[in-house]
Amino acid sequence: MTDNYTGPASDARADLDGATGTAVLVLDVGASWIKGALVGPDDRRLREFRQPTGREAGPDLVLQHVADVAAQMAAERGSAPLSAAGVAVCGAVDPAGRVTAVNLGWSAAPVRAYIEERLGIPVVVVNDAHAGALGEGRSGAARGRQDYLYVSLGTGVGGAIVQSGQVVAGSHGQAGELGHVRVDLDGRQCTCGARGCLQTIVSAMALEARWYELYEERATAHKILDLVMSDHAGALKVWRECVGALATGLITAMTLLDPATIVVGGGLARAGDKLLVPLREEIAKQARPFHAVADLRLAALDDWSACAGAATMARQLSPT
Ligand SMILES: [Zn+2]
Repeated sequence: MTDNYTGPASDARADLDGATGTAVLVLDVGASWIKGALVGPDDRRLREFRQPTGREAGPDLVLQHVADVAAQMAAERGSAPLSAAGVAVCGAVDPAGRVTAVNLGWSAAPVRAYIEERLGIPVVVVNDAHAGALGEGRSGAARGRQDYLYVSLGTGVGGAIVQSGQVVAGSHGQAGELGHVRVDLDGRQCTCGARGCLQTIVSAMALEARWYELYEERATAHKILDLVMSDHAGALKVWRECVGALATGLITAMTLLDPATIVVGGGLARAGDKLLVPLREEIAKQARPFHAVADLRLAALDDWSACAGAATMARQLSPT
């Protein structure tokens, strides 16, 4: 596992051994990667890590892998006491911390109970978009904002509605699932079984699928985004489709929620102005006069949004 660590400062071990106060462990379990860190009481990341999720191994082994990663990270804490863990996941979380995630094949997987048993500390499990929204609200692009929508464009698409500073979970913990709003009724089949969900056009998975469909060669979303950044005509064609569908999805959200602000995060948001500028244009084109167009901005914490939110929630479990 050590080979897969990324980003720890060379003095990370010294920081851990000399840490005062308690640390929390955070994990962000996505369809492609598990990211995380031990986070000190001052929000400093004491040790970071990143590993493939390995979803091809199947749902049970993925759960075991997540718990293994958590246990290995917990063992890295040195002398710093670990008070709690926050786990952000790409799925719906019920009040018992069970997760249903189509991208991981989980159906009511007992994530909280499983990891609590392995670590012996309290664990909070939260939808990754909900966590990202909280993270951006605490220290990112939505800082100081009370009412906003957070959209995460990653392997799939996540969303979270924040009202009066609180994430709106919905009656079943599934509010804000913008990725499964259907924007093309005859479109490509989604992992949920429906056709034309937003994430079948806008996500990293969708970019790769559309690229193959058009050009009959494989390319990663990362590579396609690089081509977009360098104004490659073929990549811009795919990107425009993507942005057009995202505008349609966001206008649906504006119609229902009238948010003051929309924060766009996740891996595809690294396109920066290449995303924001055409997205604003598309929204202006598609919006009707009655729409109050939200203030659209990029997430400020890069891929750390969900971990920042998970850390906040973990601290609330066990205040230091
Ligand atoms: Zn869907």
